[in-house]
Amino acid sequence: MIKVCKFGGTSMADGTNMRRVAEIIRSDPARRYVVVSAPGKRYGGDVKITDLLYETAKNVRETGSTGEAFEKVKDRFRGIVAELALDFDAETMLLGTEAEILRENSEDFTASRGEYLSARVMAELLGMPFIDARSVVKFDAEGKLDGERTFGLLREALKGKPRAVVSGFYGEDVNGKVKTFSRGGSDISGAIVARAAGADLYENWTDVSGFLACDPRIVKNPSRIGELSYKELRELSYMGANVLHSESIFPVREADIPIRIKNTFRPEDDGTDILPTSKYRFTGKTVTGIAGKKNFTVIFIEKSLMNAEIGFTHKVLSVLLKHHISFEHMPSGIDTMSFVIDSEELKNGVLEEICEDIRQAVSPNNLRVHDDIALIAVVGHGMSRNVGTSARLFNAIARAGINVRMIDQGSSELNIIVGVDNENYENTLKAVYEEFFNET
Ligand code: ADP
Ligand code: ASP
Ligand code: MG
Repeated sequence: MIKVCKFGGTSMADGTNMRRVAEIIRSDPARRYVVVSAPGKRYGGDVKITDLLYETAKNVRETGSTGEAFEKVKDRFRGIVAELALDFDAETMLLGTEAEILRENSEDFTASRGEYLSARVMAELLGMPFIDARSVVKFDAEGKLDGERTFGLLREALKGKPRAVVSGFYGEDVNGKVKTFSRGGSDISGAIVARAAGADLYENWTDVSGFLACDPRIVKNPSRIGELSYKELRELSYMGANVLHSESIFPVREADIPIRIKNTFRPEDDGTDILPTSKYRFTGKTVTGIAGKKNFTVIFIEKSLMNAEIGFTHKVLSVLLKHHISFEHMPSGIDTMSFVIDSEELKNGVLEEICEDIRQAVSPNNLRVHDDIALIAVVGHGMSRNVGTSARLFNAIARAGINVRMIDQGSSELNIIVGVDNENYENTLKAVYEEFFNET
């Protein structure tokens, strides 16, 4: 039995927490490979090491020195090493890292050092060899994970090492430069190691007791989801449930490795099991979970007989392609079509240019833009089995006095997505949660 365990930022925040992590690993001999994040927040208002490092990178770029931010990084690590009473030369490691940060002058390299340093410390604490992700996790020329190379190199590196600590969040690009995943990417690193190690289970240790049915920062004490399918996970995490990075299932999916979310601070609690869709058993629940994100823009296009006009969609999509814009959803009717786009992508006049180009390309009767839209995804395999789910959903939102701006029901019948004004985001989540989870 092999378990690969990934520990997130809060689990690694200070020496005391790292000791907990060590205890968890030692309590089960199957926990052989460990992937760690950079130390996160120790208390509300604290700053994550990764955020300090992004500030450090900015300082280096603008002033040529690492500045106050990196002083704080060094102090955090000095504190951790002192608290753990480790007998190793942290000072040389920290000063060496600082010199490299100055020499590389690269944002990704600098940001990756949180994981590098925390993995070095964890390896020391556990008495396990350290594997630098740079030497095993490889990206291709397009910046995507080069799975074949990565799994091969990692398998080779793990051979003969019954235990090891691997740094999360980064790898190396085709030019030999360090490159990071997007934020929260240590979850992907954990999945990569699980796949290469041929793990029976990928344990993802965080600061909540599993995947919850709704964001706990918005709905108080949401119920825990006991089991979730890969597909449901993908929908929920992509739509904002950031307890697990939305790309973490890809490395484990092909090998059918289940993921278990566990709480470092309450290891005795049951967590959430994320299972291959084939092994997932229907729980009887209509909705498995709810997630959402703010700040989208909807471009609404109307034209009579749009459906009869050959190449209409193609022409509109060509405009988006020309501006290198990706869209999240494309709900459509007979004479209408909408594009839901992350507002970040449409800044600095891009939106106006796109609208003008669409007018030129297809001469719509009507072209409207709604911005400040929040999307809420209601996800569950049970939705297709239970008649009337959407009626319940829309009634619940209407009872809360909220106007629905957009609806998109995935063809998989696994999700329904509704768009509301940003200001109604929290209340919509609460109303939908009440409807499906506080059933009497
Ligand atoms: P880590 O640092 O361990 O990777 P993250 O901060 O990335 O942890 O993810 C855990 C956090 O995700 C929780 O503390 C919680 O606030 C937030 N979160 C958002 N949505 C959910 C959800 N549906 N279930 C559980 N946690 C959620
Ligand atoms: N430390 C990185 C971040 O804060 C990666 C991670 O924790 O997964 O985003
Ligand atoms: Mg995370």
